[in-house]
Amino acid sequence: MTTETGLALLEHQVRLDLARLNFPAANWVPPRDGPDGRPLLDVLVVGAGMCGQTAAYGLKRDGVRHLRIIDRAPAGREGPWGTFARMQTLRSPKHLTGPDLGLASLTYRAWYEAQHGAAGWLALYKVPRLEWRDYLLWVRRMVGLDVENGTALAALQPAGDCLRADLAGPRGIETVFARKVVLALGREGSGILRWPAYPSLDPHSSAARTRVFHASTEFDFAPFAGKRIAVLGAGATGFDNAAAALEAGAREVHLFARRATLPQVNKSKWTSFPGFFHGFASMPDAVRWKFLTHVWSQQVPPPFESVLRCDGHVNFRLHLDETWNDVAPHAAGVTVTTPKAAYAFDAAILATGFDVDLMRRPEVAAFRDHVDVWARHVSESEAGLHDEAARFPYLGPGFEFVEQAPGSLPAARNVHVFNWGSAMSHGQLAGDIPGLAIGVNRLVQGIARDLFAAEEGRMYQALLAHAEPELKPTRYYVPPAA
Ligand SMILES: Cc1cc2nc3c(=O)[nH]c(=O)nc-3n(C[C@H](O)[C@H](O)[C@H](O)COP(=O)(O)OP(=O)(O)OC[C@H]3O[C@@H](n4cnc5c(N)ncnc54)[C@H](O)[C@@H]3O)c2cc1C
Repeated sequence: MTTETGLALLEHQVRLDLARLNFPAANWVPPRDGPDGRPLLDVLVVGAGMCGQTAAYGLKRDGVRHLRIIDRAPAGREGPWGTFARMQTLRSPKHLTGPDLGLASLTYRAWYEAQHGAAGWLALYKVPRLEWRDYLLWVRRMVGLDVENGTALAALQPAGDCLRADLAGPRGIETVFARKVVLALGREGSGILRWPAYPSLDPHSSAARTRVFHASTEFDFAPFAGKRIAVLGAGATGFDNAAAALEAGAREVHLFARRATLPQVNKSKWTSFPGFFHGFASMPDAVRWKFLTHVWSQQVPPPFESVLRCDGHVNFRLHLDETWNDVAPHAAGVTVTTPKAAYAFDAAILATGFDVDLMRRPEVAAFRDHVDVWARHVSESEAGLHDEAARFPYLGPGFEFVEQAPGSLPAARNVHVFNWGSAMSHGQLAGDIPGLAIGVNRLVQGIARDLFAAEEGRMYQALLAHAEPELKPTRYYVPPAA
């Protein structure tokens, strides 16, 4: 069977499965006009990466269908997979499910087997990075999500009990009103790139722009051929960027790490089971804090595949126990100074990740001073010890913002954070693949609950007006009293 035939048969199966599950459910949310006199959106989903698209799929499945889904990236370039990610395969095992929301024919395995057969699946070691992107785009097409690409959420503000969103798209700025907004902005959209402060480095200077790169951005590795490259950070991203530079023909790649040994155990892997995913959010604040600050204070080892990918090159050198004191870009290269030596490189890559600080995102500026954060739920000394964790928003059971003072900004409860910023409150349900389906189901349940509650009066009137004559086809039918 050819790849095309296999996929065509699978697509037929998916359509059948979706139809058998009555997907999508009929729209049940009563329409309401917004302040501009136009129908309010039920939900605006911001970000069409893995989390945003799966959230939209879940909403559609449960009959919340007056949606818009936007992403600032061009089509197919949402998220890290085809942009700044540089690993060869996903870290996760190949059998993980999530974006399928429990539909077997929509799993990665079904998609892969349709093209490569059962033997191909058995032979597959891990999911190739770009295939994961292609798979996500396929799921999106199968469940019929219309994503508006090239459209960014520029600002979000309360507008009575609903939300006003200013969207910057191909036609300029458009203002829309929505009952609910899901912020699925991804890991980068949970904060900012982490640029360590060095005396001689201004990341925005013209010298830095051509010599010093952040690993979580897109840049071209071809100019590294024949050059000496420095990488800071011994996590997955550090090793993958080092490997990409080596594969691009770098003369030497030096990777530096603060630690004397590489971290050996991935604590967050332990949290990846249904009991943790279901139970975590209902635990008291002190317990949630204890679990996740422990996980996050233990660094994550790089995948061994990425380490071996670098170690296969004789011109790779790992410097353990050697942090950087300064990075000085100049016309001829970059001088990296450590406590042990000063090195001359042609370029430097900082694989230092993201600083999670959702409340600094411009998208949520209007909510910054009103919504609750974890620092208010732990002692000052704990917040000082784990300052990043303390900055996470303190979210309600449906991933919604919680006001610091009840009643001060009710519209805040209509903003649902479905990205890494939700981790301290819910565990890792809106970021990595394993918790995704549980997270989406919880999010959709929370949104449906609120939409119903907000329309309780009209719902009751609809119940009173409900007069479907069930027995009309029988001789026992009694017409309603006039
Ligand atoms: C290099 C790398 C490797 C990873 N490997 C794995 C792995 O092996 N296994 C695993 O489980 N997890 C992995 N992850 C973690 C996680 O699965 C990914 O980060 C995944 O992309 C998360 O999906 P997301 O939808 O939250 O974010 P993203 O995929 O990043 O999507 C967020 C989207 O929001 C859009 N956006 C942001 N701001 C705005 C705005 N203002 N307006 C409109 N759109 C906006 C962005 O353009 C982006 O497309 C990896 C992450 C990275 C970075």
